[in-house]
Amino acid sequence: MNLLDSLSGPAGPGPDEGAAVCSRRGCRADAAWRLLWNNPRIHTPERRKTWLACTDHCGWLEDYLRERSLWRETLPLGAGDGPVDAEGSR
Ligand SMILES: [Zn+2]
Repeated sequence: MNLLDSLSGPAGPGPDEGAAVCSRRGCRADAAWRLLWNNPRIHTPERRKTWLACTDHCGWLEDYLRERSLWRETLPLGAGDGPVDAEGSR
């Protein structure tokens, strides 16, 4: 009886929740870097905000954060997302 239920199938592209896209305004490129930053005036010291950046804008965004003393760390996207399996094979 609920028409909406039967009509709500996959209809075109949904929200790009899984897509990692550069945070630079207007840039739709795939992100390759994560910039971790923290604003001591509004965040607790342990808090990390994350911006994603493509290779082109990584430096730009890092400079932006550095100028404001917000920058903390730049990490490659993906590789450092979880615990790295670095135990090797012994
Ligand atoms: Zn970009």
